[in-house]
Amino acid sequence: MDPRTLTAALAVVCLAATIVVSALALYIRQTAHRIYSAGFGSITVGFLLLSLQGHVSNWIGIILANFLIMTFHFCLVWGVRLSTKEARPLPLRFAAYLLAWISLMVIATFALPDYALRATANSTLGIVLTCEFLSSFLRGNQEDRRALGPTVLVIGVGFAAFHAARLAIVLLEPSKPGGLMGGGLGITVLLVGYIFFLVAWAGIVLALEGAFLLRQVERKNATLRELASTDELTGLSNRHLFSLRIRDEVERSRRYHTPLSLIMFDLDHFKRVNDTWGHHSGDRVLVETAHLTRKLIREPDNIFRWGGEEFVIVTPHTGLEGGEVLAEKLRVAISTIEFPEIGRITASFGVTDWREGETQDEWFKRVDRALYRAKNEGRNRVVAVSALEKRPFAEVRIEWRADWDSGNATIDSQHKRLIELANRLLELSLSSESAPIITASLDVLIEHVLLHFSDEERILKEVGYPEATTHAGIHRSLVEEVMALKTRFDAGSLEATAFFDFLVGKVVMEHLQTSDRRFFGWTGKPQEAPRSLRQ
Ligand code: GH3
Ligand code: MG
Ligand code: MG
Repeated sequence: MDPRTLTAALAVVCLAATIVVSALALYIRQTAHRIYSAGFGSITVGFLLLSLQGHVSNWIGIILANFLIMTFHFCLVWGVRLSTKEARPLPLRFAAYLLAWISLMVIATFALPDYALRATANSTLGIVLTCEFLSSFLRGNQEDRRALGPTVLVIGVGFAAFHAARLAIVLLEPSKPGGLMGGGLGITVLLVGYIFFLVAWAGIVLALEGAFLLRQVERKNATLRELASTDELTGLSNRHLFSLRIRDEVERSRRYHTPLSLIMFDLDHFKRVNDTWGHHSGDRVLVETAHLTRKLIREPDNIFRWGGEEFVIVTPHTGLEGGEVLAEKLRVAISTIEFPEIGRITASFGVTDWREGETQDEWFKRVDRALYRAKNEGRNRVVAVSALEKRPFAEVRIEWRADWDSGNATIDSQHKRLIELANRLLELSLSSESAPIITASLDVLIEHVLLHFSDEERILKEVGYPEATTHAGIHRSLVEEVMALKTRFDAGSLEATAFFDFLVGKVVMEHLQTSDRRFFGWTGKPQEAPRSLRQ
């Protein structure tokens, strides 16, 4: 085929490769990839100029054209050296290669002129730069090497062999004038071979760009995974990761019949820390507690921030006793940290072991119940509930105590009803009852609280209790708080347990045992009246 036509075809192939490689490079916006596309652009112009040989001066048709073709090879090496973060992407020896090559080309074109010498200079530089490319690539990114190594090696070695073969042909048929104008087998082999290898080089560059993009996506995915599973404040795994891990741990314990325990702990009176010293101090306490706890647990144990100031630890290969020992160790450690200005804080712990066959929900409710008991029994303690324990709701029932009698029949019967409703709510919240039934039971309790508060205020006025107005004020603020929590609960932004804690703990129990006690002397229970009020 006419060498000029072949050269023009080569220029068209190079142009197509330039467009594809550049489109991807524009998307990637990385220097190395921009250099690859510049290389393809350069060889396109190089072959165009080569096809004009005879019509333009030798400086343009031979020297500049070949220089642009060689620039392509330099760009491939430069790009790969940038990607592999070589200390010098363009080392000094490249300048030496270029200088030697230009000198030979000028001599072979103008002084001698000798086509065989030009072919030798070109092919030798082509082989040297291909070796440079291969050695940089093989030292570079391990994943790229594993995925593309064999292909790159085949193309690279093939390209070097092709230049060697072409050189041999040129040297073996010296009688031909050579060059594009002279025709001959050497130039045909060169041009046809270049069409093949240019497509192959474009393939390699596209594969490198694709691999780079995949790595970027993988890196972003890893960051997203990290963000989705880590609690920002404490750096602990979050609730989302808990639900994934717990499934694996339960499965392992089921398969190998190994014990597995769950510890849940909650900082005591943490609201006070925030209220007194501010949220920043509260956050510092959470961070320090999380760090300390993580340091004290074993490597296979997993700790999660469950939410707010609640943490959960999953302890594989650990039965109830082991879990209890660990919880006690953590309890002591937390209670001995001296926080600047705040002083010491404590935490309450619930521990339970896993029973084969039970649902995750049952297991979790048991640890929640154990923690609830730890809080109810005075906080700063560990309560362990065995998986084998019967009558799950017995120990969270609130039993009426004689010293809660106020002496007024209406108030007492309403208080008893409140306790009954609170017990019902606790049972429902710890059972697997459906949400609407729990919500309905909550509404009944709130309704009864409102009715009771208004009756109690009326009775206190009637008996002339001097703090009746203050007491009504306490009722008002409790009701306001209940309503605000209820709105959040209905909107789904408040945990059911937090709402129950407040309603059962603060409104029913704490209020009954502290504020209400003060008026017992005025409602017919003289021994309960404080001295100051009796006078
Ligand atoms: P108890 O002993 O019954 O657990 O009392 P408590 O005050 O610790 O419990 P409560 O559930 O009433 O309050 C928990 C508080 O934790 C409410 C909120 O102010 C605080 N809290 C939750 N998350 C964070 C957080 O990320 N940072 C800070 N600083 N405080 C938080
Ligand atoms: Mg707390
Ligand atoms: Mg809490």
